[in-house]
Amino acid sequence: MRRAASLFFFIALMPFVAAAVELPRDFVHAHSGAFSQGGMVVLHLTDKTKVKLNGAPLPQVDGRTVLGFGRDAKLTQKLEFQRKGKRATISLSLKKRRYKIQRIDGLPPAMVTPPEEAWPRIARGSKLKKAARATTSRHNGFTEGFVWPTKGRVTGVYGSQRFYNGEPRRPHFGIDIAAPRGTPVKAPASGTVTLAEPDMYFEGGLVFIDHGLSVTSAYMHLDSLKVKVGDKVKRGDVIATVGSTGRSTGPHLDWRMFWRGARIDPALLTDGPPN
Ligand SMILES: [Zn+2]
Repeated sequence: MRRAASLFFFIALMPFVAAAVELPRDFVHAHSGAFSQGGMVVLHLTDKTKVKLNGAPLPQVDGRTVLGFGRDAKLTQKLEFQRKGKRATISLSLKKRRYKIQRIDGLPPAMVTPPEEAWPRIARGSKLKKAARATTSRHNGFTEGFVWPTKGRVTGVYGSQRFYNGEPRRPHFGIDIAAPRGTPVKAPASGTVTLAEPDMYFEGGLVFIDHGLSVTSAYMHLDSLKVKVGDKVKRGDVIATVGSTGRSTGPHLDWRMFWRGARIDPALLTDGPPN
């Protein structure tokens, strides 16, 4: 009985345990984060070290760089280091994730399959989001670590394959935190607001924060927005309130994280549950 219970907890917590990865001391002072599908890792590099991920150079700020892995990232990734004529190549093995299936029923049909008259609005929204995410500032907010932007019960997790009214759709890339309408949403780390739209078709009230080096966070279904594009925010600043706008069945915050094109699991960036 006890053994079954501990096995259950072991499996339940597996996504939150980072694989033990050794990085060469000549090049890396320290690192934090999860070498996992959906994980993001910050490297604190030694002086004058240059680093590439799968052949692509990684920019730095304050001697730190950041890399991330999408939901279905290849399990083998290559890191190359170079410093004062010395080189090292590391083959990283990512932790493989298993994702849930989630069914959401009772949505208005127009939110499952948008009607043709909504297409221009959806296209405009996509353009805005793409432009906002293309921002690559030198902000160092990503080095601070991330805290939960609000408190509540987790009702949806990263990576789940979703069915809306029984129809298969794209996986869910955020973490859903149920909270009463009007609950403050706080910046989980410092950064600059790159998008603040009150009324997107799917997302409803939507805010993006740029935390530097292509690390962006997103907050969906917001009731009211407290920031505008260009605002600088610090960790803990209130940016919005929880709502149920857009494609939503009740008040909750959908929090998402991006590194370049990769969608990162916010739960891997924080400690413990959001309550
Ligand atoms: Zn969601």
